[in-house]
Order: sequence, then C-alpha cells, then structure tokens
Amino acid sequence: CGITGYIGHKQAYPIIINGLKRLEYRGYDSAGIILNENNSFKLKKTKGKVSDLEKICSNLNSTATVGMGHTRWATHGIPSDKNSHPHLSNNGKIAIVHNGIIENYDTIKKMLLSKGFTFQSETDTEVLVNLIQYIQDSQKLNISTAVRVALNEVIGAYAIAVIEVDQPQEMVVARLSSPLAIGIGDNEYFVASDASPFIEFTKEAVYLEDGEMATITLKGVDVHKIKDNKKVNPIIQELKIS
Ligand code: GLU
Repeated sequence: CGITGYIGHKQAYPIIINGLKRLEYRGYDSAGIILNENNSFKLKKTKGKVSDLEKICSNLNSTATVGMGHTRWATHGIPSDKNSHPHLSNNGKIAIVHNGIIENYDTIKKMLLSKGFTFQSETDTEVLVNLIQYIQDSQKLNISTAVRVALNEVIGAYAIAVIEVDQPQEMVVARLSSPLAIGIGDNEYFVASDASPFIEFTKEAVYLEDGEMATITLKGVDVHKIKDNKKVNPIIQELKIS
C-alpha cells in the first residue's frame, strides 16, 4: 500500500528502507526492495514487516544509487513472498512496484500466456509488467513509451514505478486514482505515495494528477499524459513541515 523510489547519487538502500518505514502507517502485509547495481537487479521481498525485509537485506551491502521499495496490501493473491512486490518481467529486465488494482488483468494474462509468458505470482501486477515487456519487445519501444502504451490497455487504479535494468538513470512513474509524489532534489529525485519518505531531503515536490505519468532522469522530470503523451508543465509545490 506504499511506494517509494530513489534516483540520484546517494546510496539508495537506506533512503528506500527508511521511506518504507515512514509509509508503514498506511497498513501492509509484505515488503520488498529492488536496486540497480551496475546494470543488474538486486531484489529482496518478503511477507511481513519492513523490519523482516531489513533482516533479509543485512548482507546486501549495496552501493546502488537507484531503486524502489513497496509495502503491499494484497488484493490479488494471498500475502506471500512470491506475491510481494517488486515484480519482474519474464526477461528479467523490467521491474515494477504497484499500488492499486488492474481490473482486466485476467484478459491480459490469457493473451500473454498464449504468447508464451509464464507467471511466478497470482498478482495483477505481474501481468502489467509482462504486458510492458510484450509491448516493448513487439513494438521496439523505449521503456517510457512501452509503459504508456501498456497503461492505455489497462482498466483499473494504480500508482506505479518502473525501472529497466539497462537504463539505470531512468525511472518511469504513473498514477490513476492512487497518489504519487515526486520529490525534486539537487540532481536527485524521490518517488513516494506521499511526501513523508523524502521530506528530510527536499522541500519541493510535484504531485502527479490522475492520468499523468513522469519520466525521471538525472536531468529532470518530464511529465506527460498517459492517454495522448501531451506534455504537462508540472506545478512544483513547496512542502511544509508539520
Ligand atoms: N493489486 C496488487 C497486489 O495485490 C497491489 C496491492 C497494493 O496496492 O499493495 O499485489
């Protein structure tokens, strides 16, 4: 029920773990983290608490500067290690964290199964990440465009963050009926369900509106509409400490 992500120059692991702790109040049954370490993914996830996740990460020793974390409130598939997020695409190259529900996941899953895709979990989320891979492979698209095309096939509610193993300097996020905030730092960016995970690092944030997505790189944040890719000029809000 919470998402957090980081892309910048700092060590991502502690930022993401502390961010997940700040999001614990939203309620959850599982937690997970993924880091991009020199163009390879390190993925840890478990049923249970963020403190349980920390235990299985104790020997992680990651210097990665990009990654994402998730706390899950199960809607499709029981709370289990396998159903926890992040989820990977079949080719292992695309990772997703997702809050919400993909209502038409069953139809999409049948289509993907007919194309030879396999699934490790019972989640709707794993269907979405494989739809992104399928679209990327068959239409030869960059990750941002593949995410956009995939979301136009989806009915439901979501806040998502997506990273690609070969593009460590890029994160794609999108929202429909689930909150998503982007913290704007100094050559670093934070992503979270609310501003609490990054308030200690920056006072500037962009809140995505429904139907918007953003491509985040170290050069900046490019916000556009999921439907027609129309550019949106994001409103940067000043966060107040309460
Ligand atoms: N529908 C997804 C699942 O069951 C995401 C649930 C959530 O919002 O945490 O895994």
